[in-house]
Amino acid sequence: MKNQIKLRSGATICQLRPEEADKKKYLTRHSLSKMHLMPTGEPVAYDIAPDGNIIYYFDPSRVTEAPPETWYFPRSKQETMTLPGGSIIERMSVKNAATRGYYTAERLEKMHYETVEEPVAYTYKADKSVLYFYDKKTAKRLPLMCVQCGKDIRYRKKLCVSCYEKDLAVRREEGNAYRSAAYNMDRAKVLFFDLELTGFYDHDEILSITIIDGFGNSIMDTLVKPVSTKSWKRTEEIHKITPAMVKDAPVLEELKPRLKEIFADAENIIAYGVSTDYSHIKHIYEDEAEREEFHKKIRCCANEFVRYTHENRPDIVHASLTDAMSCFEIEWEGVAHSSVADTLGCRKVWEALFPNYYCN
Ligand SMILES: [Zn+2]
Repeated sequence: MKNQIKLRSGATICQLRPEEADKKKYLTRHSLSKMHLMPTGEPVAYDIAPDGNIIYYFDPSRVTEAPPETWYFPRSKQETMTLPGGSIIERMSVKNAATRGYYTAERLEKMHYETVEEPVAYTYKADKSVLYFYDKKTAKRLPLMCVQCGKDIRYRKKLCVSCYEKDLAVRREEGNAYRSAAYNMDRAKVLFFDLELTGFYDHDEILSITIIDGFGNSIMDTLVKPVSTKSWKRTEEIHKITPAMVKDAPVLEELKPRLKEIFADAENIIAYGVSTDYSHIKHIYEDEAEREEFHKKIRCCANEFVRYTHENRPDIVHASLTDAMSCFEIEWEGVAHSSVADTLGCRKVWEALFPNYYCN
């Protein structure tokens, strides 16, 4: 079996002897640069130079013209250097090297790359020592280090496993203290609500509203007749509310006074994923100040569940109401995805998250 190496893209290429590469018409960087060309594709094969560096072979059908500023670079007094592997590389300025994507090993290391290929160009430093340039495209991507300790490879949130675990333990302790705190809420003044809609956008309309209190009492549970939407096939499949069902239901306008009364009395109003619900229920209020007042009372059960899973159950990656209910082993009451069942489910999830929420 032939020697192989894996490229950054995941592709594997084989080692070829120069005569084998010749037969396939593959070209090295050196032969390409003599034709003022540079590769656009990844290497298709490689060989190892006597100094241990890699020499890549490129497919001649995947090349482009090298930028003129690099090949017009002082041609008359052009200087070259022969590497131990036989490749001839050109002297070029740092700026010209950068236009081709060539950098020094030191610069590449700062970008978290390690060089494996032989240099592709060079220049002289002020002290006359040689400075080599390497192609970033074929350099090896180094694993990123932990931003906290700098010693280990990153795992999550830019931290290594042990720094991440330490950070998580602190967050978990804070989160658990926040969730288990006593909130002294009056069950009668805590409301849970859910809406079913004709669709997922702002112009969509409300089809049903369910509101319950902290005791689980039903405060409002009604279908709503949309004013301008006649059918909602896509969402109908989810919540099962048909146009015929809402034919004789009240329109939102008629429900406004009662809704305002209910919400005015509440201290906290909780929903699962409030942003959609808020953007539709807010229309019962005419002015911004009223909406602002209402928004202050809203709590999002989904946000709290996401925080809980991040801190305690990193194995849970989705945060739908169904996910939250199964996390706490809560059974659905009624038809899942109806506003009643969702509201009841939301209340139970909230109470699982905040076990000392009420005073009564
Ligand atoms: Zn670390």
